[in-house]
Amino acid sequence: MAITKVWLDESNDECVSCGACEAICPEVFTVPDKMVVNEDADFSAFEAEIQESVDSCPSGVIKFS
Ligand code: SF4
Repeated sequence: MAITKVWLDESNDECVSCGACEAICPEVFTVPDKMVVNEDADFSAFEAEIQESVDSCPSGVIKFS
């Protein structure tokens, strides 16, 4: 399944601005304050890194589909 959408979901918890996602995959994530998904990021080229970011996020707020 190709990743076509990545987003911040704070419905259960909040991004704590730790920067882990950006450290793992700056091509997709930027953390100026809270995480933002880079516009025009090529998600399909970084699927492993996106999954690693999800697994590494202490708040569990990174979602993708
Ligand atoms: S890893 Fe999670 S908590 Fe940390 S900056 Fe990224 S989205 Fe926020």
